[in-house]
Amino acid sequence: MAVVNLGSINADMVYSVPHIPAPGETLAATGFRSYLGGKGANMSVAIARAGGRVRHVGAVGADGDWAVRRLEKAGVECLHVAQADEATGTALIFVDPQGENAIVIHPGANAAVPAQALQDAIEGAAPGDWFLTQNETNLQDEGMRIARDQGLRLAYAAAPFDAARVTALLPLGLSLLVLNAVEADQLRRATGQDLADLPVTDVIVTLGAKGCDWIRGGQVRRFDAIPVTPVDTTGAGDTFSGYLVAGLDSGLGMEAAIRRAQAAGALMVTRHGTSDVIPTSEETDDFAR
Ligand code: ADP
Repeated sequence: MAVVNLGSINADMVYSVPHIPAPGETLAATGFRSYLGGKGANMSVAIARAGGRVRHVGAVGADGDWAVRRLEKAGVECLHVAQADEATGTALIFVDPQGENAIVIHPGANAAVPAQALQDAIEGAAPGDWFLTQNETNLQDEGMRIARDQGLRLAYAAAPFDAARVTALLPLGLSLLVLNAVEADQLRRATGQDLADLPVTDVIVTLGAKGCDWIRGGQVRRFDAIPVTPVDTTGAGDTFSGYLVAGLDSGLGMEAAIRRAQAAGALMVTRHGTSDVIPTSEETDDFAR
């Protein structure tokens, strides 16, 4: 089986700063790191590290070859990552000594994924494969529709939250919707509905250190997180979602897939960084033992 993931690819640029700059202020950073990010890229890396087959659909600019090479090195198929006439997406992240941050995202090429790349990737998939997307690219509606018509199962991580997009995609027959606690509240308010009443087979609400809720058929079941001492929670949700979809795609039942995703998520928060440090399946299975 395989996962087609329509998702963002960003260069994350993280500046450690003494304080978040005020208007008009010029500030010297005390540290700088740049790495591959974007929810889409993170989830594709997580799927590949989980042992899954993942075909990424997305776009980078003429300056984005390095990002594609990183994805390929992690085991992600990049035949359908196009080169767009825009700069590669960037996230400019300021972090102060208290861990407070301020972030500016420029979607760039992520908003210019060509329809042909999407079409080709889905045509190469087989019924029963998964189609996964988040809210950081164009073509989500088209992707969901084409994938559904080809008999793919639809998975959606509705982040960053966008009420108009979620309400447009919900009626398409989602198999899986993954939200964090904040997004779950935003969705309840946007739809005026209980999550258990949404037209989605399985809804997962991740709750950080509290674990996650699995909602199916009106029933809610809580899975406690594996206790760890977190050092950096960035990318926990993306790691969890990637592992969850990879587990389901490999034939695991929902309960087993959740337990494996929780182990990967818990291990992830014990590490500094994002896509580069997403745990491998061996690390995850060792940790869960
Ligand atoms: P997001 O990053 O999208 O806000 P969460 O913080 O809810 O997502 O984390 C996703 C999953 O990662 C959780 O459901 C849990 O399994 C795991 N996780 C996150 N934070 C912790 C933590 N502090 N301890 C253990 N597991 C965690």
